Amino acid sequence: MGVKTGIGWCDHTFNFWIACNKVSTECKHCYISPIIKRMGKEPFDGPMQTKDWTGPSRWDRKAGEAGVRRKVFTCSMSDFFHEDADPWRG
Ligand code: SF4
Repeated sequence: MGVKTGIGWCDHTFNFWIACNKVSTECKHCYISPIIKRMGKEPFDGPMQTKDWTGPSRWDRKAGEAGVRRKVFTCSMSDFFHEDADPWRG
């Protein structure tokens, strides 16, 4: 997840966890559902912790070596403040 992205305004995406709870009928139009389905993790009911949290520090080191700034879209597929993620946030 996240090394390259098709999102034009950022260079990377990063998620400490993915998904949330579907809380409304509008959730059936949510853009994360088809992505999570392709990952084989649909249906989802709450955030799922991702395994590799080393991306941002690697990207930062490479950007520093190259003398450039990179933009990271954090939580592109998650809610950073989801209460089920409280134990992981620290
Ligand atoms: S992010 Fe979660 S709560 Fe928000 S629209 Fe998508 S499924 Fe619903």
